[in-house]
Amino acid sequence: MEDKEIKRETKGIDTSIVYDFKQYPDEISGRCDNCGNTLFKSSVKDFIFLRECRACGMKKSI
Ligand SMILES: [Zn+2]
Repeated sequence: MEDKEIKRETKGIDTSIVYDFKQYPDEISGRCDNCGNTLFKSSVKDFIFLRECRACGMKKSI
C-alpha cells in the first residue's frame, strides 16, 4: 500500500468555514494563515469577495 499524501503542514484550521477578514486578519499579510501559501483563488459571491487558498482551501471573505 502506498501512503503518499500530498499534504502541507497546516495549523489545522477548518477549511469548510469562511472566515471574516476583519475578525481574522492575515498573520502575515498576503499569506494563508493555515499553511503559509501565497497563491489564492478569488471569487465573488453575493457581493462578497472570497479568497481561497490554493493549497489548503482556507477561505476568507474580504
Ligand atoms: Zn492555505
